[in-house]
Amino acid sequence: LEPVPSDIDISRAQTPKHITEVAEELGIKPKELEQFGHYKAKVSLEVYDRLAEQRNNGNYVLVAGITPTPLGEGKSTTTMGLVQALGAHLNIPAIANVRQPSMGPTFGVKGGAAGGGYAQVIPMDEFNMHLTGDIHAIGAANNLLAAAIDTRMFHESSQKDAALYKRLVPVKKGVRKFTSSMLKRLEKLGINKTNPDDLTTEEITKFARLDLDPESITIKRVVDVNDRFLRQVTIGQAPTEKGFNRKTGFDITVASEIMAILALSRDLKDLRERVGRMVVGSNKQGDPITTEDIGAAGAITAMLKDVVKPNLMQTLEGTPVFVHAGPFANISIGASSVIADRIALKLAGQPKSHPEAKKGFVVTEAGFDFTMGGERFHNIKCRASGLKPNVVVLVATSRALKLHGGAPDVKPGQSLPSEYTSENVDLVRSGCANLAKQISNAKSYGAPVVVAINQFETDTQAEIDAIREEALKAGAFDAVPSNHWAKGGAGAVGLAEAVVNATKSVSVGEGEEEQVNFLYDLNESLESKLTSIATKMFW
Ligand code: ADP
Repeated sequence: LEPVPSDIDISRAQTPKHITEVAEELGIKPKELEQFGHYKAKVSLEVYDRLAEQRNNGNYVLVAGITPTPLGEGKSTTTMGLVQALGAHLNIPAIANVRQPSMGPTFGVKGGAAGGGYAQVIPMDEFNMHLTGDIHAIGAANNLLAAAIDTRMFHESSQKDAALYKRLVPVKKGVRKFTSSMLKRLEKLGINKTNPDDLTTEEITKFARLDLDPESITIKRVVDVNDRFLRQVTIGQAPTEKGFNRKTGFDITVASEIMAILALSRDLKDLRERVGRMVVGSNKQGDPITTEDIGAAGAITAMLKDVVKPNLMQTLEGTPVFVHAGPFANISIGASSVIADRIALKLAGQPKSHPEAKKGFVVTEAGFDFTMGGERFHNIKCRASGLKPNVVVLVATSRALKLHGGAPDVKPGQSLPSEYTSENVDLVRSGCANLAKQISNAKSYGAPVVVAINQFETDTQAEIDAIREEALKAGAFDAVPSNHWAKGGAGAVGLAEAVVNATKSVSVGEGEEEQVNFLYDLNESLESKLTSIATKMFW
C-alpha cells in the first residue's frame, strides 16, 4: 500500500500460516516441533541429530551494518527483505536466523526488532514480547546464580566449616551425597574422594570455603526492562541478613553472560560445560571462582533445558525464521545462536527451480555495526561454530551516510533537517568513508561483500549511484539498492540476485571447509587481542 502503513498495521493485516505448515515446508517432523499457540514453536535439537550425516545444504550469509545512527540503518528489515526475496520470489529455500528482541529497546527509544514495512517477522507483537519465554528463563537462571553467590558468602561469614559442609552437601534418602558439580570441584582441588564422610577436616575446609571477595563479584542480577533505578542497589537490608549487605546492581537480561553462552553453545551438554566455566569473581587470594565452584551450574542448565531449542516463526511472506539468543552486539555477542545456524544450514535444502543457485540460504545478522557485531560474529561466534559466512551483506542508507559525512546531528522523534530530505551527494560521498572502512573490515575475514542500499522515500538516484560507486571503489563485490521496506521481497530481488552471484564468486572444493581469517589467536594475551581489534577494526 502507499503510503506504507505502520509496522504493526502491516503485521496485523497479514494472516500468518499455521506454524505446523511452516515447519512441514522446512522438513521438520511433527515430533520435533513444540507448539506455543498457532504461530510460534520450539524446535527440538533432535532435528540436528537426525540430519547429522547430511552435508550443510545452505549458503551462510551475514547481514551487518555501517556505524549506527539514530536514523536506523535497517539491518533486520534488510534480513527479512532478503529472505523474502530469496524464498518467496526466487523460489530458493531461505531461512532467516535472528535474535529475540529485548523488551528494553522495544519499549525504549529504538522500538522492536522485527524488521519494518513489508519486510518483517510476524506476528510482530508476539516476536517482540516474551516469545516463548527464553529471556525470562535466562533471567531466572542468572538470578539463581546471583542468589547462590550472596547466600554462600553469607553462610561462610557466619558458620563454622563443619556446619557449612553439612549445609552444602545434600542428604538424599538418609544418605549424604555429592552432586556432580561437587565432584567436579573436588577433582579441581585434587581431592580424590567420592564419599562425603571420608573427607578430612582440612579437606572439608578447602572444599566448603570459597572465600569469595565481595568486591570481585562480576555477576549482577538482571531484568529485561529499562529500569535505570536498579543500576545500583544495596542488597541484604532485611534484619535476617544480619548486616551482610553490599552494593551491586542490575543489568539487562540480554547482556548477561548466560545469554552469550546460549548464543555460542552447540547443545545442552556444551552449554552445561560453558556455564560451569563462568567466572563469577575471585577469592581473597585472587584465584578465579566459577559457577561450578558455587555448585549452581547443574541447576542453571536444568532451568535452560527448553531455552536451548530455537524458536520458529515466519516472515510476512510466509518464509521460515528461527529466533534464538539475544541482541546487543556493542556490549555482548549480539548474534543469534550457533544451534539455530547449524540446524538451519542442515534444513536449507536444495533449491527447487532457480538455475543459478546451487544451495539454499541461511541469512543471519550481527548487531550494531560490522566493526563491533561483525568482529564478534567472526572471532567469537564463528570460532565456536566452525562456520564461515559465504557472503557478508553490509547495510547502508543514504541518510546515515549523510550523518557520517557531516550533516547535523539528529535526535529520535525530531523532524529531520533539510540535508536529509533533499539531495546532497557531497555529504553522502564523504560519509562513504565509514562504509569503505566497514567493507575492508568485512573483507578481511575472507568473504565477498555485497552492499545493500536500504532505500528511503527521500533517496535520489544520484545519491544511490554515488554510494554504489564508492562501495565498488572500496572493494565491494556489488552494491545494489533495495526497496523491501516499501515493496517486501519483490523490492529485494536485485539484492538477492547479487547475493546469489557473490556466493558463486568464491570457489570451495567439494568436502573443503573454509576457515575464517581470525583477527587474533586464542592463546594471545588479552592486551594483544584488544590491540589487534583496536588497530585493525577501528583504525
Ligand atoms: P537495525 O536492525 O539496523 O537496528 P531495523 O531493521 O530494526 O534496523 O529498522 C529500524 C527502523 O527503521 C524500523 O522501524 C524500520 O521500520 C525502519 N526502516 C528500515 N528501513 C526503512 C526504509 N527503507 N524506509 C523507512 N523506514 C525504514
